Amino acid sequence: MRRHRKVKIVATLGPASSDFATIRALFEAGADVFRLNMSHGTHEEQRARYDIIRKVEAESGRPIAVLADLQGPKLRVGAFADGPHDLADGQAFRFDLDATPGTASRVQLPHPEIFAALEPSAELLVNDGKIRLRVENCGADFADCVVTAGGPISNRKGVNVPDVVLPLAALSDKDRDDLEFACGLGVDWLALSFVQRPEDVIEARELARGRAAILSKIEKPAAVRAFSEILKVSDGIMVARGDLGVELPVHSVPPIQKRLVRACRAAAKPVIVATQMLESMIESPMPTRAEVSDVATAIYEGTDAIMLSAESAAGAYPVEAVATMDNVARSVESDPTYREIIESSRQAKRQTVADGIVAAAREIAETTDISAICAFTQSGTTGSLVARERPRVPIVAMSSEERTLRRLCLTWGTHCVLTPELERFKQAVVNAAKAARDFGFADETNQIVVMAGVPFNVPGTTNILRIAPCDERLIYRTDPE
Ligand code: PGA
Ligand code: MN
Repeated sequence: MRRHRKVKIVATLGPASSDFATIRALFEAGADVFRLNMSHGTHEEQRARYDIIRKVEAESGRPIAVLADLQGPKLRVGAFADGPHDLADGQAFRFDLDATPGTASRVQLPHPEIFAALEPSAELLVNDGKIRLRVENCGADFADCVVTAGGPISNRKGVNVPDVVLPLAALSDKDRDDLEFACGLGVDWLALSFVQRPEDVIEARELARGRAAILSKIEKPAAVRAFSEILKVSDGIMVARGDLGVELPVHSVPPIQKRLVRACRAAAKPVIVATQMLESMIESPMPTRAEVSDVATAIYEGTDAIMLSAESAAGAYPVEAVATMDNVARSVESDPTYREIIESSRQAKRQTVADGIVAAAREIAETTDISAICAFTQSGTTGSLVARERPRVPIVAMSSEERTLRRLCLTWGTHCVLTPELERFKQAVVNAAKAARDFGFADETNQIVVMAGVPFNVPGTTNILRIAPCDERLIYRTDPE
């Protein structure tokens, strides 16, 4: 099983996608990474989804990454007694601290710090800014508002208060609990919501203790300002356009997206472009032209991954949404203009032996007839560095570390293959050639580039580049032990 595209697809799981058949169908349609949104559902529900993902992984023999997305200091309304309500322009609506399920005229907002900081005339935004309310009157445990832009409100929808500075910790008690639970499950990535400072990331990293890689969601103005420092201490980034477009003017999101995607590529760290990519497919089997164009734009920019949220978690067409992304990706990536953009935005960075080797691997692969670049990567660094080069030929990332391969599922263009620990160089070449043949990247008449490091199985040692035949008999005849 292999993908016929380079960009990766992240699919959020939820009520519309929690059974084995649907999760397997999402994987087969193209999902490379599954996102568990810790803002919704119980630990038992998340565990059931996790177990199914690992079953699909075992059945397919292909590594799959699981990303647990921590809610962070996200403000959300409570639950409603009887489903969603439509708030009308001009109507009154109250937020309070009362945990009784909400009605058409009130709901819980379980954050006393908001009520403490609110003042009359402040604006509250609900459901990604779709609903706007103005505070008329407020106290320590309530805010009476008038709806200035109506819309549907339902269980646990997000709330933003752009005018008010809220003194919130980076990780709530719930986040710490969820983090421990997710690391215990064995997730590969932890996404941190509403990161504001590099210290927030460092705090989560200390709690994760190497059990999962850390991805910072950029969705606050403060995070945009501190981006380069946040990138340095993160393993990956999400351009979280939902909250970003609420906290900042929505028209400032595209330039930020472009800047973040480029910076991540330069740093060889994966970046996800997220939110509302195929929003209309929550209800319709066909996307809008503008959505298709948005997905295409992110791919032309060179993002590592594109993401589905409600489209796959709660929509009526989760599998179709993944298939749509897959089709758009194949169409963009076969466009000669895509290659031109990717080539012209490559930044020549040659500071280490590994930088030089991956650049050489790409150049050799593109000047001669090479079918794949096979990179042995213990920690994943070499795999990411090859991906940063955005080579034309397939990248086969080979490792004896399953965790490394799963994490790399988020990285552009990597086809990840589990391999035994290396004992001899010939074994590396034989295994690489076999993987290239088995997954249909090469046949016996082709050549591949093999990258590895001696001493074997030690991270950060990539120092060998070999142009090898795919024919096993030739390898045995020509290659040194
Ligand atoms: P969320 O994050 O879906 O958890 O809010 C993504 C975003 O804000 O875009
Ligand atoms: Mn968000």
